[in-house]
Amino acid sequence: KAKLTRRGSHVIFENAIRQELENRLTLESELALAADRGEFELFYQPQVRLVDGGLVGAEALIRWRHPLRGHVSPGEFMPVVNTSALSERIATWVMETAARQARAWELSGSSVRVAINLSPSQLHSGDLAHSVATLLDTTGLTPSLLELEVTEDILLHDEARVLDMFKRIQQLGVRILFDDFGTGYASLSYLKKFPLDGLKIDRSFVLDLLADSDDAAIVGSTIGLSKQLGLTVVAEGIENRATADFLVSMGCEEGQGYFFGRPMPAAAFETQFLTAELEAVSAA
Ligand code: C2E
Ligand code: MG
Ligand code: MG
Ligand code: MG
Repeated sequence: KAKLTRRGSHVIFENAIRQELENRLTLESELALAADRGEFELFYQPQVRLVDGGLVGAEALIRWRHPLRGHVSPGEFMPVVNTSALSERIATWVMETAARQARAWELSGSSVRVAINLSPSQLHSGDLAHSVATLLDTTGLTPSLLELEVTEDILLHDEARVLDMFKRIQQLGVRILFDDFGTGYASLSYLKKFPLDGLKIDRSFVLDLLADSDDAAIVGSTIGLSKQLGLTVVAEGIENRATADFLVSMGCEEGQGYFFGRPMPAAAFETQFLTAELEAVSAA
């Protein structure tokens, strides 16, 4: 009897795996079609100087304009993209689109930086430093207006290769930030190993900052640590003024979150943020 049961559950397990594999393959071919049809779009979320709310940057965040489902969030498809043959193609599209946008904004007189999220494949195959150099060359973008965000999963393998790539990218004048800081297993050891220009405190520590004294302690010490290491610190997930004020009181320089602005299409970002920045610049 025990044998029968075991065989039964084995079959159920196999079916579940087969179903999941089918779902993944369907999504993969949908994503390939989406790339052919130009259904991907970059949204931009403002990053501000917390003391005065002045615009300093924009994070480029990918969206899939699905013909039936509307805008699909990256959480739903980037994990599949990043482990499929499409990875390099989409990563390249993201880099080129964001860099061209950044250059267009630079030409309009803005000094807004644009931050791009790197995909694992970009550091583990090909020569990212060379691609970035070529991109700067072809667009004419000032290097300090480009930022790359990396997460811990990207840093896990191939330490020597990543280290070399980072150094060469930074020599170009492009900054590298550690994204989702504090959520991984070994965030601190990466700060020691890799040359980084800054870190972004993950929103899971920021969302509840005012109510949760543990979060406040973690965020406060992360800010202190960043300063001691000479790193820029950006807080993610700021949803209200009180949180922004508290972060300022702890010495945090820059932030990003729904309180300042949600990710939005480039055109909306221009009317809502760039126009004001350019007016402030010309008034000064
Ligand atoms: P991330 O790089 O940590 O991006 C920040 C995420 O937090 C974004 O989610 C943003 O919409 C969200 N967020 C910003 N402010 C707030 C807030 O005040 N409250 C809350 N609750 N959330 C906020 P999104 O756009 O869904 O992106 C999710 C993740 O997908 C990103 O996390 C990033 O890891 C990845 N991703 C997005 N675009 C790209 C891309 O072009 N390439 C790659 N490789 N990954 C991307
Ligand atoms: Mg990011
Ligand atoms: Mg993040
Ligand atoms: Mg994240």
